[in-house]
Amino acid sequence: MKSNTKADKSPREPDLTDAVARCGADASMMDRLGRIYESADRAVARTGAVCLGGGPCCRFDLFAHRLYLTPVELAMLVSQPAPDSAYADPGRCPYQNGPRCIAYARRPLGCRIFFCQGEKRLFERLYERYHREIRSLHESCCIPYSYGELVACFMQLFPNE
Ligand code: SF4
Repeated sequence: MKSNTKADKSPREPDLTDAVARCGADASMMDRLGRIYESADRAVARTGAVCLGGGPCCRFDLFAHRLYLTPVELAMLVSQPAPDSAYADPGRCPYQNGPRCIAYARRPLGCRIFFCQGEKRLFERLYERYHREIRSLHESCCIPYSYGELVACFMQLFPNE
């Protein structure tokens, strides 16, 4: 979720690294996450929500919020490496290039269900619904669930970047 609250419950480094690696190696789990994303995208489309573009919400410091995600979402995202230069600014997402998201097809649930305009509560309910599905996916695949902030998770996964 893109949120301005601090709710980082990311596990210690070896736990997260192991969980992300196990998720990424589980093709069935990744397929199932893809189907959850497709369903979420359809639900968002039915709301008529429109992204105005420009990418201000991907500049976390500027927008004063943070992006939270689970290990399986991280595994999907990092299956496309971020450019080396992206780590220079920890205040924005490593996958933002100008106004564009270069990992659009792999972006986490929080990016799919966040809009600057529209009924905030509706998007929160949609997020909660699909986030529960992702949590259940972790449980059914017996891979520990956690919920961490993107930049903190990247610092754990890629400490030398
Ligand atoms: S993954 Fe893409 S949409 Fe999500 S915060 Fe990063 S650049 Fe923005």
